[in-house]
Amino acid sequence: MAHPAPIAFEAFRKEATLLNPAKDMAAKTIPLEIRKDPLTGRTARICHFRKLQWDMPDLEALVAKTQKGCPFCPDAVMTATPCFPRDLIPQGRMTLEDLVLFPNLAPYDALGAVVTLGSRHHIPMAEIPEATLYKGFRLAMAYFRRIDAIGHPESVYAIANWNYMPPAGSSIIHPHLQVFATASAPNLMRQELEAARAYARATGSNYWEDLVRVEEEAGRRFLGRIGRISWMSAFAPMGVAGDVLAVVHDAPSTLDLTDGDLRDLARGLIRLMAGYDAMGLYSFNMNFFTGARSDAHARFHVLFSPRTYFNPALGTPDAAALRSLFNETLCMAFPEEIHQRLKGHFPF
Ligand SMILES: [Zn+2]
Repeated sequence: MAHPAPIAFEAFRKEATLLNPAKDMAAKTIPLEIRKDPLTGRTARICHFRKLQWDMPDLEALVAKTQKGCPFCPDAVMTATPCFPRDLIPQGRMTLEDLVLFPNLAPYDALGAVVTLGSRHHIPMAEIPEATLYKGFRLAMAYFRRIDAIGHPESVYAIANWNYMPPAGSSIIHPHLQVFATASAPNLMRQELEAARAYARATGSNYWEDLVRVEEEAGRRFLGRIGRISWMSAFAPMGVAGDVLAVVHDAPSTLDLTDGDLRDLARGLIRLMAGYDAMGLYSFNMNFFTGARSDAHARFHVLFSPRTYFNPALGTPDAAALRSLFNETLCMAFPEEIHQRLKGHFPF
């Protein structure tokens, strides 16, 4: 019998008391909670409570205005985008039907690429076809495998990120993934890898496999399983409307994913998008978190985090000083409530 996993879900409750000007200065108590991520100890605040319903803006004008001159649309993508040097990608760009992979014009690492998700300039979040997303992951994977096959020293962490729509940081409406292979693990991913290594040393067990087991048994945040991928709301989310984690059983790294995993990943993500769309949200970030292939303590996982504007009229982002400089985050509902809203969209 497995020993109980030493995963602690720690939360600290506090309250703020103020005299309410709308109620004749009567005392009002506002609760909040500070949660600790069980792996890294990173803290997340559950506060600014609100109803899980946002006003979906009319995006028609924004879509029409940006379509003309879009470098990712079919009439421009094969001329307006750069090519890789021949020794890296012999044909310069990689394609899969109407999806195109090419170097990122604004690289933040040596092997940065962009994958357009087909020829449609704008696909509303709830209408992104599962097959399109699957093809996007397949094209990214073909790039990672090519870099790995030539023995490139950056072929350590294979990462795909997605900034979907401007609230999530995208400067181009046309849906696209950011894809790169790097020997330099980004901050939070590196901290997770270090913490998972320490956990494995201390317990002889894999943190992610333990987390999946504990969350599935408790059920309060567990959404379901597709193939070998387990989906759950994060205990200490970074996003204002929570985060969803998808952990792939037995796969330390991106390069350990099978074609079936990519299909299952697309399948689950599409359901999350439908769930958040029903709340009126239309923008998100999605990151791959991966170990290196020898990292037995790691498990490939995806973090999906919806984004919004705090004040759409001003373009006020949902990340301000707390998040930008402290990496302290705010979530506007309990993750367990968000889980309830998503559960109906996730029949697995
Ligand atoms: Zn376009």
